[in-house]
Amino acid sequence: MVDSAQTTMTGLARQPQLPESKRRVLTLLRRHGASTKGTLAEHGQMGWSTVVKAVDELVQEGLVEQGGRQDKSPGVRGKYASLYRIAESGPRAIGVDVELHTTHIVLTNLKDDVILEERYPTPRRAHHQATEDFLVESLRAFMSKHSVEASSLAGIGIGILGIVFPTNHERDNVERAKRIASHLERVFAARVVVDVNSKVYALYEKWTNATFGSADFMLAWIRTGVALSIFQSGQLCRGTHGLAGEIGHMRVAEGGTLCRCGNTGCLETVVNQHYLAEQYRTTVRGATSPGEAGDVLADLEELFRLVKADNHAARRIVTTAGSYLGTVLAGAITVLDISSVVVSAHFGPDGDAIVDPISDAIRNAILPNVNFSVRYVPFDPMGHVLGAALLVLQDYLVHA
Ligand SMILES: [Zn+2]
Repeated sequence: MVDSAQTTMTGLARQPQLPESKRRVLTLLRRHGASTKGTLAEHGQMGWSTVVKAVDELVQEGLVEQGGRQDKSPGVRGKYASLYRIAESGPRAIGVDVELHTTHIVLTNLKDDVILEERYPTPRRAHHQATEDFLVESLRAFMSKHSVEASSLAGIGIGILGIVFPTNHERDNVERAKRIASHLERVFAARVVVDVNSKVYALYEKWTNATFGSADFMLAWIRTGVALSIFQSGQLCRGTHGLAGEIGHMRVAEGGTLCRCGNTGCLETVVNQHYLAEQYRTTVRGATSPGEAGDVLADLEELFRLVKADNHAARRIVTTAGSYLGTVLAGAITVLDISSVVVSAHFGPDGDAIVDPISDAIRNAILPNVNFSVRYVPFDPMGHVLGAALLVLQDYLVHA
C-alpha cells in the first residue's frame, strides 16, 4: 500500500515507519478507545499472535499503556482481560492553525488531547518572509513558555490560508508550503509539514467521525470560501500546484458578482457562509439594511432551521446554493469515481438540509444508477488545529 505521508510537503525525512500491524493497533485505539487484545484482533481482522506481538512491543516502546481491566460478562470463565490505550507518553505533535486574524497553536497526541494551547494575533497581509518570521516567533514563544523541546516531538504540522487574492505571488500552494516547511525545519531541527487549511481540516475529518480511516472520499468545505479535498486510495490529492479541489474559483454563474480572484460568478461568490447569511437577512428576514452584518452563524442556523420548517424563501436560498455546489461535485464524481461526499459547514444542527439539493443536482448530472452518498458534518472548532497536528501524526495510523 502506498502511504499517504509520502506526498506530504516536507524536506526532512520522517522517522522509520512503524510496521502496519502496530499502526493498525494505534488506529483502532484512537478510534475505539481502550480495548482488549481480543477486541483489537476482532476489529482489526488481525491474527491473535500478530495483535499480541504488536501490543506488547507498543507497550515496551511507550506508545501504548495498560489501563484497567474489562468488566467480566456474567457466566464467562477465565481471567479479566486487560485493556490497552494510547499512552500519555506516546507521540506528540504541535498543530498550528493560521487563520486571518488569529493563529492557534496546540500540543496534542494521537488521542487528540489538547495538552497545551495558545493563541497569537496573525499579522495582517504578511509577505512570505514575514509569515515565516511570525511562525518562528510564535512557535518559539509557545515552546519556551511551556518548556517543550522540539526534539521531543513527532513534528510540527501547520495549516495556512490558501493562496490569498488578490496576489502577485505565483498561484502555487505546494511551492509556498515547501518553502515555509524547509525554513522551519532548519530553525527547529524537527519534521515540519505545511498544507492549506481546507485540506488540513479534511485530514481531521478523515481521522475522526464517520469517515474514520476512509480511503476514498471528498470533503466539501464551506466557510468564507468553498474548497474540495479529495482522498483517493487514502492519499490526499494535491495536484501539481497544490490547487487540486480548489473549486471555489470555477465560474458557475454567468454575469455573476465580482470575486476576490478578479473573475466574476465564481462558485465561492454563490456558495459561502457570508453570502448565505446575507441572502437570509435580505430575502427571509427582510432586513432594511442588507449590508448590516449580524451574527453570521446565528443567521445561518436560523436559515437552515427555516428550511426544515418548510419556509419557501429559505428553501429557495439553500436549494440554489446546493444546486451550484452539486453540479460542480457531479463533475468531480464523474472524473474521479469517488462516490462518498462529506459536506462540512457552519450551518448548525439543521445544516443537513443542504444534502437534498446537492444530491438532486448530482443525480441530475451523472450517469444514471451510479450510487453516491452526501453527508453533512457540522464544523468542529478544533478541526483545523488538530488536523494540522495530524499532518505529522497520521504517520502512526493506517487507512481502513
Ligand atoms: Zn474567484
